[in-house]
Formats: sequence, C-alpha cells, structure tokens
Amino acid sequence: MAIDGSKIIHAIMEGSKIRESKGIIPIFGVYLSLFSVEYYNRLSFSFMHKMGAPQKETSEKLLIEAAQECGYATFQGIRNSWEWDQIVVPMIETREDQIFGFTAVAVAFGWGDLEVKKIVPGKKMILRANDSYEATGYLEQYGFSDSGKCYMLRGVSGAFMDLIYGKEYPEGLFNFTAQEPLCRAKGDTYCEFLVTKSPNSCQV
Ligand SMILES: [Zn+2]
Repeated sequence: MAIDGSKIIHAIMEGSKIRESKGIIPIFGVYLSLFSVEYYNRLSFSFMHKMGAPQKETSEKLLIEAAQECGYATFQGIRNSWEWDQIVVPMIETREDQIFGFTAVAVAFGWGDLEVKKIVPGKKMILRANDSYEATGYLEQYGFSDSGKCYMLRGVSGAFMDLIYGKEYPEGLFNFTAQEPLCRAKGDTYCEFLVTKSPNSCQV
C-alpha cells in the first residue's frame, strides 16, 4: 500500500500544536477545535432518548446525515489543502489510496482507530473501528444496545465514498450510505461500517 498513515498522523500531531487566539487549530485547509467526546456522546444520545422510540429511525438518520455532511465538507477542504498536496499526494498511486489518506487523517483527528478492510472501487467499502468512542460512551452510559450506535463514524464512512466515487463536489453528498452491521455497543468485538451506493443514486 502506497499510503504511509504514520507520516500523515505525525504531520497532523505536529501541526495541531498551533492554536489561533480562540483555540482554533488551522490545519489541512480546515478549522478544527478540541471537543470532548463525552460531551458529544451526551448530546447525541440524549437527543436520541428525548426523541423517543417512535422517532428512533428519524433521529438516527438526522445524526448520521449531519456527520456525513460534516465529513463531506471537511474532507473536501482537506484534500484541497497545501498540506494534502505536500504530504499525501506524493504517496497516492490509485484513486483508492485517497481513502487510506482520509482514514489516516481521521485517526489523527482522534475519531477512532479506523482501518480500511475492503474497497470495491465505485461500489463498496468496509471500514473497521476497534475503539469507537461512541460505542464506548454508549456502553458506559446505557449498557448494551440492540443496534449500532456510532452515528458519527457511520456518516463519515459514507462521506469518504461520496468524495471518491460520488458525483463531483458538491453534488455527490449522500450518493453512498453506510450501515453498521457490527458495533461494540451491541456486544460485537469491533464496529464495522459497510458503505454501498444509496438507493436511487445514479452517480458514475
Ligand atoms: Zn459502533
């Protein structure tokens, strides 16, 4: 594999030491900030509970779509940045390598120990997380669930495929959809995200 994830992670760890006066971290063409995962988990899981069981599908969809839209815009900024050009582009040999580059960036951002397990170009991707903070937070707060709880990573997985195989930005958002067949929150060993083309999507 052409992409050296440790090189990308090291560059981000170094760059993220820079802070603007308001604590914003300007790196890879986007603005980042430190955010407590406990706070994020509390917000999203409380939102789910307030919405209630009859609205479960709708509330999950909202959280996943918010993450997918965020991932789509954020990684579009990242892949158009000076740092991406300097650090990642020289390692890219295939279109799929961009996904390995995205994944290394997401790992460095602290989004999870993500690993690309499979890519079928243009059709499918399987992304695995051994230590998703959403699954950990859910288990700590509520115990075992009967369904996957990693809405952020589910949306981000879809965004990666949207950016690589969807229509040209910004028309490719939601061309792909991620499911989470395996999740630690429901007792599986790890979380796994399966991304496929969205129903009725007609991207090339
Ligand atoms: Zn999970």
